[in-house]
Amino acid sequence: MTLLISGLYIACMVLMVKLFVIAGSPSSIGSWLYSLFLVVIFSRMILTRRFSKYRRIGTSVFTLLFALSYIWTMVDNYGSILLGEAAVLSGTIPFNPFLLPVLPLYLIFSRSLPFSAVITGGVLSVTGLALIWSMVAITIGKGWCSWVCPFGGYEDFFSRIRKKPLIHLDGFANRLHIFNTWFAAIVVLLSVLFLIPVYIYYLNPFSLITGFYNTGGLIGLCITAFLIILYICLVIILPYLTKKRFQCISYCPLGALQNLESRAACVRTVIDMDACDQCMKCVYECRFSAIDKSSIQSRKPMVLSSCAHCGECIEVCPNKAIRFEYSFVRSGTTKPSAQSRFARVVQSLIDPERVYVFSAFVFFVFFSSPFATDALNRIIACIGGLV
Ligand code: SF4
Ligand code: SF4
Repeated sequence: MTLLISGLYIACMVLMVKLFVIAGSPSSIGSWLYSLFLVVIFSRMILTRRFSKYRRIGTSVFTLLFALSYIWTMVDNYGSILLGEAAVLSGTIPFNPFLLPVLPLYLIFSRSLPFSAVITGGVLSVTGLALIWSMVAITIGKGWCSWVCPFGGYEDFFSRIRKKPLIHLDGFANRLHIFNTWFAAIVVLLSVLFLIPVYIYYLNPFSLITGFYNTGGLIGLCITAFLIILYICLVIILPYLTKKRFQCISYCPLGALQNLESRAACVRTVIDMDACDQCMKCVYECRFSAIDKSSIQSRKPMVLSSCAHCGECIEVCPNKAIRFEYSFVRSGTTKPSAQSRFARVVQSLIDPERVYVFSAFVFFVFFSSPFATDALNRIIACIGGLV
C-alpha cells in the first residue's frame, strides 16, 4: 500500500512540475533537465521518507543556480551587481524577497514601490504576491526558510563542516530569536521613516548576490566592505563555529516575519516524551535552534516558532520520537486505527508528513524554477558556444 500512496504523490508532483516548469518553456533544455532533477529528488523523498536529506540536496542546487542566474542577469543588464543611481531609478531591478516585511507599510505610506520591488503588473501583482505569501504562511509556515529560501544553503553548508560545534548556543538561542524580532521591527520602522529599503541598501549580507545600491566614492566603498564583513561573519564564520544557521536565527527580517506567521501554519513539530530518551541529538542537529534543551530535560518538550519544518530532527532521532502533526488536532490525541482498507489508504494519504513534504516541495518548484532553468539554459548556451 505504501508503494501505491507514494506513486500517487509522485504522479501529482509530475503534474505540478509540468505546470510550473515545463509549461512555461516547453522547448528549453534547461527546464527539462531541472524537471527531471525535481522529480528524482521528490521521488527519493517520498520513497525513502528521508525527506530532509533530499531537501538539502534540492536547496543546495537551487542556491547555486539562483546566484548564477541573478548575478548573470545583473551583469548582463547593468554591467555589475553594484547598482548606480541610473539602474535604481530605471525601476527594472528584479524583485528582492527581503522586501516582503516592509512592503505593506511602504505601500501605505509612500503609495509607491521601492527600489528592487518591480514585478510585472505593479501594485496589482504585489497584491498577488501578498496572497501567495499568505498561502505560504498557512500551508508551510516557516518552512519557507528551509525549503525555499535561496540563501539558506550557504549557511547550511558552513554549519556542516565541523562535526561538533565550538560554541554552544544552548540557553542563548532564545535571546537570539528575540534580538531578531527587535532587529526586524527597527528595520521596518527605519524603512518607513526614511522611505528607503534600509535593510537592502545597507544591511543585507546577501546583497552581494542580489545586487546593491552603490553611490561610489568612499561611502560606496565603506558599504561594500561592511557587507563583505557581515557576510563573512554571519554566513561563514558563525555557522561554522556554532553549527547553526546563525544569520537566519538572529539577523534576518524575513525570518522574523516567518516566526510570527508560522503560528498560522497547519503543521507543527511534536516530540513524544514517552519515546524520547533525552539523547539531545535533535537539539544539536536543529540548525534553527528551535528545540529548547531545558524543556527536554524537564520532560515538557517545547518546539519554538523558529522551527522551519526541515525534518532534520525527525531524521536523527534514534527513537522516532519526533513527527509532524496537524496543528488543528489536539496534541497527544491518538489516531483511531483505520478498520477498512479504504480507510487505511485515506489515512496514509492525509498523513501530515507526506502532505507537508508535498506542499513545501510544490512551493519549492514554483519559486525555484524560473531561476534554475534560466541558469541551466545560460550554462548550456555557454557550453554550446565553446564547442
Ligand atoms: S525542530 Fe526539527 S524540524 Fe524544526 S527546524 Fe529544528 S530540526 Fe528542523
Ligand atoms: S533525538 Fe529523539 S530521543 Fe534524542 S532527545 Fe531528541 S527526541 Fe529525544
